[in-house]
Amino acid sequence: MNVLVINCGSSSLKYQLIDSDTEQVLAKGLCERIGIDGALTHQPAGKDKIKIDAPMPTHTEAIALVLEQLTDKENGVISSLDEINAVGHRMVHGGEKFACSALVTDEMIETVETCNIFAPLHNPATLIGVNVCRELLPGKPMVGVFDTAFHQTMPEKAYLYGIPYEYYEKYGVRRYGFHGTSHKFVALRTAEILGKNIEDLKIIVCHLGNGASITAVDGGKSVDTSMGLTPLEGLIMGTRSGDVDPGVLEFIAKQENIGIKEILTILNKKSGVLGLSGVSSDFRDIDAAAEAGNERAAETLEVYAYHVAKYVGSYVAAMNGVDAIVFTAGLGENDKKIREEICSYFGYLGLTIDPVANDIRGKEAIISTQDSKVKALCVPTNEELMICRETVALVK
Ligand code: ADP
Repeated sequence: MNVLVINCGSSSLKYQLIDSDTEQVLAKGLCERIGIDGALTHQPAGKDKIKIDAPMPTHTEAIALVLEQLTDKENGVISSLDEINAVGHRMVHGGEKFACSALVTDEMIETVETCNIFAPLHNPATLIGVNVCRELLPGKPMVGVFDTAFHQTMPEKAYLYGIPYEYYEKYGVRRYGFHGTSHKFVALRTAEILGKNIEDLKIIVCHLGNGASITAVDGGKSVDTSMGLTPLEGLIMGTRSGDVDPGVLEFIAKQENIGIKEILTILNKKSGVLGLSGVSSDFRDIDAAAEAGNERAAETLEVYAYHVAKYVGSYVAAMNGVDAIVFTAGLGENDKKIREEICSYFGYLGLTIDPVANDIRGKEAIISTQDSKVKALCVPTNEELMICRETVALVK
C-alpha cells in the first residue's frame, strides 16, 4: 500500500510517499515558509528536484499543493489520490496518554490536545496537519506516531525528577523523552544487523543530530533516555544547552537582567556547540575550525564527546551491561572522529574501534573490531519509514 508520511511543523511540512510493500520512497519533499510566502521542493524518485514558489497562507494550501504534485502528469508518481491508502503523521508529545501509535479519530485528537501543554509550539502544528489531511483526504485511514511513545516503557525510577511529587501528580512533570521513532527504528535494525533477537540485547542508541538524545534499550524497550519533559534536557546539542545546574538560570537572569523567556531562548537557541564554540551549530564548521587551529572549537568537540560518553556510561550502569553502542543521525552517521572519540572512553568494557570499518559515512556498519566485547555500530535512522511501518500495522 502507499502511505503518505507527514511531518508538520508550525511553518514547514515534510512529506514522503512510501510504497510499504517495497519500502521504496516514491516521492518526497518539503513545504517551507507556510504563512509567510511559501515554497515547495518536490522530488519524485529518480527525477530532479522541482522548486515551486506558491502562496501558502496556511497548511491547507501547502498540503493541497503537495497532493497536486503527487498526482501531477509530469512530476507526479500516482494517477489519483485513490492510490494513497493511508496517512502517517509524526506527532510530538503524547504525554502518558500514548504508549504506542494510534489511529486518528475525533477522540484521539481530543486526547492529543490534552498533551499540548507539554509542547505548546509543536503539538498544535502537527494537529493542523492532521486536520487538513482529514479535510482533503476524507475517509483515508490515518495514524499518529509519537516521538514520546517508545519511551513510555521507562520505569518510574528513570522518569521521576527529584522535585515535589505533587508536580508529577498535578501536572505530569516527568521525563518523557523524544526521538522515540528513531531510537526504535535503530534498535530494531541493530538487532537485525547483529543477527540477534532484540529481546536478548542491551543497546545504547546515540541519536546525534542537531537535536541529540541517547536511549538505553533493554530487550527492545526504552528503559531510560536523556531528553526530559522537553527536548532541552540531556546532551549538549547544536544550539541547546542540554543539562545545566538549574541555579545557572537565576544567576544569568540576575547578572544580565533578563527574564525566564529570554533565558530559555538562550538555552534553546544560543547554547550548545554554537554557544560553546562561537563558530556554528554545525559540526562540519566546528571540525573545520578545529583543524584550522581554533582552540575553542577543538575544546567544544572534546566537551561534546565527553558528555555523550558520560551518558553512555550511565546507561551501561542502568542496564547492568551493554551489547552494542549505536550511532545515528546527522553527526552520528557522518562523523567518524566523534564516534571514535566517544568509543575511546569504553576501552574498560572491551570495546575496540576498527579504524577501517569506522571510515564510513551514512552507511550501516559494525565499526568495532571482530573481537570487541561490546559492538559499536553506525546505523542510519529512517523515521519516515518507521512511521510508514507503524501506520501499516494499524490500518491493515
Ligand atoms: P536534525 O536534528 O535537524 O534532524 P540531523 O540529524 O539532520 O539533524 O543532523 C544535522 C547535523 O548533523 C548538522 O547540524 C551537522 O552538525 C551534523 N552533520 C551532518 N553531516 C555531517 C558531516 N559530514 N560531518 C559532521 N557533522 C555532520
